[in-house]
Amino acid sequence: MNREDHLIAQLSNVCDIVETDTSVLQAKTLDFWPFAMLEAGASERYPAPTAVVKPTNTNEVAAVLSLLNSVGVPVVAQGGRSGVCGGSVPIFGGVCMDLTAMKGIVSLDKDSCVAEVKAGTFGNDLEQELEEKAGMTLGHWPQSIEISTVGGWVACRSSGQYSTRYGKIEDMITGLEVVLADGTIVHTGNNAPRSAMGGDLTQLFVGSEGTLGVITKAELRIWHLPKSEWRRAYLWPSFEEGLDACRRILQRHATPAVLRLYDKTESSFHFSLSDRCLLLALDEGDPAIVSATMQVVEEECSSAERAEESLVARWLENRNDISAMAKWLEAGMMVDTIEIAARWSALPRIHRKITSRLASLNGVLSTSAHQSHAYPDGACIYYTIIGKRNEYSDDQPSAIRVDRTFSSPNQVLYIEIWDTVMNTVLEERGAISHHHGIGLNRARFMRSALGEGFNVLTRLKSSLDPRGILNPGKLGLPSPFGEPAWPF
Ligand SMILES: Cc1cc2nc3c(=O)[nH]c(=O)nc-3n(C[C@H](O)[C@H](O)[C@H](O)COP(=O)(O)OP(=O)(O)OC[C@H]3O[C@@H](n4cnc5c(N)ncnc54)[C@H](O)[C@@H]3O)c2cc1C
Repeated sequence: MNREDHLIAQLSNVCDIVETDTSVLQAKTLDFWPFAMLEAGASERYPAPTAVVKPTNTNEVAAVLSLLNSVGVPVVAQGGRSGVCGGSVPIFGGVCMDLTAMKGIVSLDKDSCVAEVKAGTFGNDLEQELEEKAGMTLGHWPQSIEISTVGGWVACRSSGQYSTRYGKIEDMITGLEVVLADGTIVHTGNNAPRSAMGGDLTQLFVGSEGTLGVITKAELRIWHLPKSEWRRAYLWPSFEEGLDACRRILQRHATPAVLRLYDKTESSFHFSLSDRCLLLALDEGDPAIVSATMQVVEEECSSAERAEESLVARWLENRNDISAMAKWLEAGMMVDTIEIAARWSALPRIHRKITSRLASLNGVLSTSAHQSHAYPDGACIYYTIIGKRNEYSDDQPSAIRVDRTFSSPNQVLYIEIWDTVMNTVLEERGAISHHHGIGLNRARFMRSALGEGFNVLTRLKSSLDPRGILNPGKLGLPSPFGEPAWPF
């Protein structure tokens, strides 16, 4: 028996579902990372995993991890593989752990409004179960709700479209069940809303992208279904003026569930508006809170032009439609989205620099932006960049490797765009990601982004996962299996 067959036999002893079909293994080698989509056959750039395990309970997760830790084989936790940064790509082969058989609500504490949910539960299934069982909602509505899981949200610090009212996923979590690399099962959260019992172990694992442990359950704050809803739309002459209105609204402590500001390009593309920036506002919940929120929004937008409220309905109808992206890719274009965050004091400057620097890159055809997650101290700006590079050129900035590692000039353009945006944000001390996470794509910026904090993260990693088996090569952390073969 060769080494791989021996591993598969060992895995079968501890987990009921072990898949080894070539088609299943190949399918698990990619997620929604657009860079890989720019190349036919990108799934063959990395070794296919030896096996896919599909545990149905926490004990199976623990037994698999304990086994893989003892033999030093890498393992990548996978939810819906909707991540857009290559986070769940098994770059060193090994084993993929598909969590999607661990699904559903485990318990509901209706008095406390807390639900305990298995990590592999897909978003729309969770919302449906919450509504049917309790008339409640989590209020987390990422665009990828149908194809992403609770574990993936927690692992990537996800944000939904109603985040200004309900918060990001890290605000919704009261506790976690996590399995460490050696198979130890840990519970965090202490069944209490807050505590003063040392550092927050829950938040240690939030955003860890499968590198510190496998999340098997999450306790989440849930809400009664909203009794009222309110919508408005406004037009601003400039993106900066709209941003400033968002700042004032948040700083008056008003948190409308949706506060989305589109720049002129996106206002035109999505809503056929010319030369103005559309601000959509929607709130839901208790009528008294919604009414007070509405009053603040109206006061702060009194100098803007009112637009048809039907624009909000139009957004609601189309908000999860990403068909345009597929069309651009099919037409041979490069397309990606980049979300960053910064303080209000820096945001307009960052935005100006990013748009002007991208416009000067050879092949960039369009850069557009919207603001969709706002806080009292700052906001997220979400860029959509479209381009086409027809040929390799010899005058690339020296930082870019043009050694034909990439199969297409669009991939070189892609790297240039990411370098430009990330370096601008680092220069202005913003956050290089607001909710998509790091994965493989942003790994090369992590050391600069975290400074000395990166060494703390490295030490945490080597303490919790000394053999480095958990999702090696991600978050920019050192890997005992070497450097990722491609693309960086
Ligand atoms: C069309 C589209 C729209 C999107 N819109 C949004 C959006 O509005 N908001 C948003 O936040 N994101 C969005 N995303 C990105 C993506 O959906 C999120 O990052 C999501 O949180 C990933 O969840 P997943 O279950 O698919 O995780 P995967 O892609 O499978 O995994 C992502 C990372 O999490 C780790 N991981 C997964 N499950 C576990 C677990 N149980 N334990 C430990 N680690 C785990 C993986 O190892 C990997 O590093 C979008 C993606 C697409 C394709």
